[in-house]
Amino acid sequence: MYQHVDQEGFVLPYATGKVVCVGRSYREHAAELNNPVPEQPLLFIKPATSLAPLDAPLVLPRELGPVHHEVEVALLVGRRLCKATAEQALDAVAGVGLALDLTLRALQDELKGKGQPWERAKAFDGSCPMSPFVAPDLLSPLQQLDFSLTVNGSNRQQGNTGLMMWSMGELLADISHSFTLMPGDIVLTGTPKGVAELQGGDELVLTLDNKFVFEAKVAN
Ligand code: ZN
Repeated sequence: MYQHVDQEGFVLPYATGKVVCVGRSYREHAAELNNPVPEQPLLFIKPATSLAPLDAPLVLPRELGPVHHEVEVALLVGRRLCKATAEQALDAVAGVGLALDLTLRALQDELKGKGQPWERAKAFDGSCPMSPFVAPDLLSPLQQLDFSLTVNGSNRQQGNTGLMMWSMGELLADISHSFTLMPGDIVLTGTPKGVAELQGGDELVLTLDNKFVFEAKVAN
């Protein structure tokens, strides 16, 4: 079962809640999927049942179509945020980690084409493998974080949060005007370019701030 943990494996005192995801917050990823760049953050939600520990074998619904990885910086919310300012929102960040926003890409394209919501492609059980969370004061400033994903030793995605179209504070504040964020909720802040399909047996290495390294493996 999934629980929020810190980088030393200690369980953090926050319930598991919803995961609010931001789409197209990096220009080059919007371009690679031929999507327009939104004027306001594009949001969707994964339920708590989408969370899975990153270090357990990742079980993917590959029978439903290709499953793509999207590596994203994840923020753990430590305090209730409702209609917050960017400053209040930043103060409420209790931890920073890396998540995979797993996506059934062909199904998402089909749903997009029909103008339907993306949940069947984005919110399935296990669709949000989540790393441990690192306290923000152990990291570079939130808008200067390098992060990357390698699959079987080759570099797939490389990002820096300085390239986001909105700052972390702006994103959290904007979200909190649509949905109250509760302690234990997570915000996924969007993926840089390089999304691609995962295969059974793939070995993943996720790196945060050139300091914290998290490993994962896709189940066969
Ligand atoms: Zn994403």
